[in-house]
Amino acid sequence: MQQFQQYIGGAFSDGTAQFESRDPATGAVWAMMPEARTDDVNAAVTAAQAAFLAPEWAGMTASARGKLLYRLADLIAENAQSLAALETRDTGKIIRETSAQIAYVAEYYRYYAGLADKIEGAHLPIDKPDMEVWLRREPIGVVAAIVPWNSQLFLSAVKIGPALAAGCTVVLKASEEGPAPMLEFARIFDQAGFPPGVLNVITGFGPECGAVLSSHPDIDHVAFTGGPDTARHIVRNSAENLASISLELGGKSPFIVFEDADIESAVNAQISGIFAATGQSCVAGSRLIIANTIKDRFLARLKEKAEAIVIGAPDDMATEVGPLCTQGQMANVVDLVARSKLAGAKVITGGDPVDRDGLYFPPTIIDCTDAPNAPCLTHEFFGPVLSVLGFDTEAEALQIANDTGFGLASGVFTKDLTRAHRMIRGIRAGIVWVNTYRAVSPIAPFGGHGLSGHGREGGMQAALDYTKVKAVWLRTSDDPIPDPFVMR
Ligand code: NAD
Repeated sequence: MQQFQQYIGGAFSDGTAQFESRDPATGAVWAMMPEARTDDVNAAVTAAQAAFLAPEWAGMTASARGKLLYRLADLIAENAQSLAALETRDTGKIIRETSAQIAYVAEYYRYYAGLADKIEGAHLPIDKPDMEVWLRREPIGVVAAIVPWNSQLFLSAVKIGPALAAGCTVVLKASEEGPAPMLEFARIFDQAGFPPGVLNVITGFGPECGAVLSSHPDIDHVAFTGGPDTARHIVRNSAENLASISLELGGKSPFIVFEDADIESAVNAQISGIFAATGQSCVAGSRLIIANTIKDRFLARLKEKAEAIVIGAPDDMATEVGPLCTQGQMANVVDLVARSKLAGAKVITGGDPVDRDGLYFPPTIIDCTDAPNAPCLTHEFFGPVLSVLGFDTEAEALQIANDTGFGLASGVFTKDLTRAHRMIRGIRAGIVWVNTYRAVSPIAPFGGHGLSGHGREGGMQAALDYTKVKAVWLRTSDDPIPDPFVMR
């Protein structure tokens, strides 16, 4: 049985309690995780706050912070395979994706390493002749980063990278589901040479650990990725410390295919959009909105490809769809499919758990033509289930696409340039992919609105969001201060 430890103030320790972690592929307990309770959370925040104020970090130049981030990126790249194996083991995410994704995580740290000394203030052309006024961009303070179980190394990189580049310190709460890769990441981080307490990594359960962390009086910003219900808790918790918040939540993203699309390419992108990562992806293109003129042809090809997908153990490079991460995920998927069938939706392929040990659910396609109110069209599965609706006109396609409270991602497949531009303008989502899907980069902002949250991760703006602006006024005249009873 493997034993993991938390990382607080540059030291590794067991949590106040321990909990078991199960391998989603077998259901067997394989490791013990440290469970952070109130005392551990307080210790982590205290360490982060002390590090934030200490001259080793507060006095470090931005270029030196960048160098440490470059060193961290190199260490991640060197350890990518072992980190990938751990993420696969603990969450069931297939090794084919974790190995590619974690190698790319290093690029996120490199991007923010390069940005560290490009976060600039400004000089203002102020309207008073005897004043110099400029803006300093200072780190926002101590950041609580809270992540869900899917893609934790990736989802934490888009928080830790910009936060450290800006000069903040961080307490990262890994998910209680599959925290192993983050706890191992802490060991790698420790080798990079940052002062103790700059990053602290804990894990534990939502109410005991997450809630205490997000409402802690010494937290200045909460960067959260997870579900909308938890986000509501985070927002309420912020009434305690009045911390600023960024929320990256779920989605019910539309994938729109027009009759002039390259069918083979669109089918492949749809496969990637909904079945990659076993559908456990916030940007899953889970609503196929397809021109009625090509619907049958498209669905026939999609079904053929979906049924050829290799379902198997997550640590096998040949596997394309692995297990769901948790029993709760499985229950959610089974329940939503059942309720959608009751509402009149027709399962084209899949629909029932795979008959083998582990939490396997097959690629599933549900035609909702006769069930426009089926729950599968509005609820996030976070599993490999695609819901389909046909359309006759462009206006109808747009109306269906926007008929959701979420607004994270979207896909449009057409060769018609002017139509593509109209769709780009009309779709309410933070990301529009045209003739592609599920592409990300540290250079491009990522995020949504509505039930998908607010704030953006990735890009320069994300680093600026970890800063606060200080306006500095310096009087250049030696004359006496004029009338003290009039505001200048
Ligand atoms: P979740 O909301 O249940 O948990 C996320 C994190 O919040 C976990 O670390 C959990 O311990 C913590 N938490 C739970 N209760 C808390 C509380 N009261 N206070 C503070 N923290 C608390 O999400 P999940 O089920 O682990 O992940 C799936 C969800 O995450 C989906 O909705 C998915 O779409 C979303 N997600 C979004 C993105 C994105 O970037 N937009 C990426 C991945 C996942």
